[in-house]
Amino acid sequence: MVVAELPPEVDVAIAGGGPVGCALALALSGSPVSVARIAGEVDFAERPIALSYGSRLILERLGAWNSVPNNPIETIHVSQQGFGRTVMRCADHGLPALGYVTAYSELVAQLAGRTPVSAESLRDWKSNDDEVVLQLSRGEKDRGMRARLLVLADGGQSRRMRYARDYRQQAIVAEVTAEHPRAGVAWERFTAEGPLALLPFRDRYALVWSVRPASAAELLGLSDPDFLARLREIFGARLGNFGWVGPRSTFPLSLRYGRTVPATRVLAIGNAAQTLHPVAGQGLNLGLRDAWELAQMLLDAAKEEIGAPRFLARFARSRAVDRYAGIGFTDFLVRIFSNSLAPLALARGAGLAALDVLPPARRFLARRMIFGARALP
Ligand SMILES: Cc1cc2nc3c(=O)[nH]c(=O)nc-3n(C[C@H](O)[C@H](O)[C@H](O)COP(=O)(O)OP(=O)(O)OC[C@H]3O[C@@H](n4cnc5c(N)ncnc54)[C@H](O)[C@@H]3O)c2cc1C
Repeated sequence: MVVAELPPEVDVAIAGGGPVGCALALALSGSPVSVARIAGEVDFAERPIALSYGSRLILERLGAWNSVPNNPIETIHVSQQGFGRTVMRCADHGLPALGYVTAYSELVAQLAGRTPVSAESLRDWKSNDDEVVLQLSRGEKDRGMRARLLVLADGGQSRRMRYARDYRQQAIVAEVTAEHPRAGVAWERFTAEGPLALLPFRDRYALVWSVRPASAAELLGLSDPDFLARLREIFGARLGNFGWVGPRSTFPLSLRYGRTVPATRVLAIGNAAQTLHPVAGQGLNLGLRDAWELAQMLLDAAKEEIGAPRFLARFARSRAVDRYAGIGFTDFLVRIFSNSLAPLALARGAGLAALDVLPPARRFLARRMIFGARALP
């Protein structure tokens, strides 16, 4: 294969079959910007995902919201083991919901079904001042493609991120049922090993329980009744007993991020730009804002501007505040809350209690969690 001899094919090549790459392709579909989406092996991981109300607005603008099945989150109850709690309610913000829980696979299916895609993988690329030359592969077959701009939306799998922190935590993800479910309420509970979230999902709860790797191995090995008893011990009695648990899976948790502009004529968005701890459900929401803002810039750009250094620099600048706020916020929560040091536990409890009696502080925090640091929509 002589990649360089192929004619230019597209303005924008998007590598990634996840929700962020799909959202970008959808936002550009039907526009003068020509797009090739390269999806690789599509990962239809069966796991729940919480979308903020801000992400709903983006999906509505993409015409994809009505087909995404979801459970609304009207109230978020935040607590730590020991003392300290606060409650956020959608009514305090004049919104119908703070967020929504859906399935990753269903979201991707809705977004992906609407734009053409190639099942090839991005194997490599080389860029110069004028273009980026992609090397794509599927099985034994290779081919080349040329683009003005390559957007990496592959979850970070094709690049080594510059900054990384291993949280030494694993998320155990499973569906559970509770004796006294509370419709529309999501729970985030901080424990010494990591945060535990219970999200309303279908007619059950989705559990995302971050623990140290040794505890994850132990929890995975427990019988269902023992696992549920341990969950109740950590979570408390608010929902009564837990009655059933589905298959449990684990995800290693780390923070990884790198430059938004990894190379000439290349941009990274979504998890390819920053992979966050799932605490407070920020990762995909941030990625959808990356995709939305990039799409608006591409739609406004003249063809020759697409992928040029000034275009890349402008995008990196426009996303910096939101991106670093998301990285800093989740990293802060994990590091401050995931320990049992008595003075810190006291300070955290006091912080949560203060939030509870200070509506403006709560509003500030909730707005940023819903719309991002730039309060987008
Ligand atoms: C346990 C857990 C719970 C989470 N909960 C939440 C939550 O509640 N809310 C939230 O906002 N975020 C949450 N997140 C984060 C969220 O899942 C990610 O931020 C989101 O999936 C990022 O989407 P993406 O499209 O950027 O990347 P991904 O979802 O990783 O998708 C990348 C895609 O690119 C494909 N790909 C890989 N390599 C190539 C290649 N070489 N060529 C072509 N394609 C390729 C992959 O197969 C995949 O389909 C959670 C994460 C975890 C681990």
